Amino acid sequence: MDTPTSGSVYVAPSLPAALDALDEAGSEAAPFAGGTWIMRAPIRHEPLKSRYVAIGKIPELHAIKVDTDVVEIGAAVTHAALATALAELSEFDVLTAAAGRSANPAIRGMATIGGNLATTAFAAADCVPALLCLAAEVEIASRGGRERIDLEQFLTMRSTLAPGWLLQRIIVPRRGRKTAHARLPLRQAGDYPTAIVSLAVSLDDAGHVQSARVSVGSVEPVARRWERLEDALVGHKLNATKAADAAAGLAGEFTGRDSADVPAWYRVRVLPGLVRRAAAALGS
Ligand SMILES: Cc1cc2nc3c(=O)[nH]c(=O)nc-3n(C[C@H](O)[C@H](O)[C@H](O)COP(=O)(O)OP(=O)(O)OC[C@H]3O[C@@H](n4cnc5c(N)ncnc54)[C@H](O)[C@@H]3O)c2cc1C
Repeated sequence: MDTPTSGSVYVAPSLPAALDALDEAGSEAAPFAGGTWIMRAPIRHEPLKSRYVAIGKIPELHAIKVDTDVVEIGAAVTHAALATALAELSEFDVLTAAAGRSANPAIRGMATIGGNLATTAFAAADCVPALLCLAAEVEIASRGGRERIDLEQFLTMRSTLAPGWLLQRIIVPRRGRKTAHARLPLRQAGDYPTAIVSLAVSLDDAGHVQSARVSVGSVEPVARRWERLEDALVGHKLNATKAADAAAGLAGEFTGRDSADVPAWYRVRVLPGLVRRAAAALGS
């Protein structure tokens, strides 16, 4: 086998070859997907790995399979390809918007969904809250085998996984919900969003919320569900103003993260407005 050498990028021709290469190199190596996060490591003053295993040539990681009850997305599917593939499936509007409005067109043509979920330090990743509100699962693979886990659990364990693993695919159940993604870039397209709200609801014939999932990204270091707001929405007619009022009453449970360009309090302050926008996008 053509194995990686020090300071190299090894282009894996297959999934087993990628897993072998990652396993053999241990903590010296990491997967290389779109490279849009890795290429900015010097800006973040982070050291690069001495070896990368490029996964972009592995055909099965580019597959998107749409079945009646589930959609499966290979980890190397780009944001642009994902947005195009899901454009006609309105129940996935949240994910189409997350993938289709992140960054800018050039980046969307390179950045992958797997990289979006696997990047531990990327608080502003758009697809993470979108997939949380869609109740997605992920499949991770290593030379030792495969494991399918809930995305919420994956987010808590991804930084502690032993070297050698690869995110292989994302599994999203089809529940026919109405969904929306509201994001606030600081200045313009291409910025990382200051805050993100992803929303998925099922409504009865009278427009009452039967079940809801709300997720918040970019406010705290890791995206998470807003369960108290979900509870506040259930049983009531979906109304954008009332949803924003409920969000304003509950926003105190978030501790915003500070950064050079956005103060912590601002990320929390904009949440009710984003909840209003997401609910309004569902026609409420
Ligand atoms: C200027 C700019 C603005 C951007 N704005 C946004 C934005 O607003 N919203 C947004 O969502 N994205 C944005 N992005 C893109 C963002 O970098 C990607 O969405 C994503 O976080 C990285 O994906 P990637 O495929 O490029 O990963 P890479 O850079 O290749 O890898 C990132 C990390 O993930 C690991 N990794 C990658 N794939 C896997 C895998 N399958 N299994 C295990 N580990 C893996 C790598 O080892 C590395 O640690 C922006 C990028 C740039 C350059």
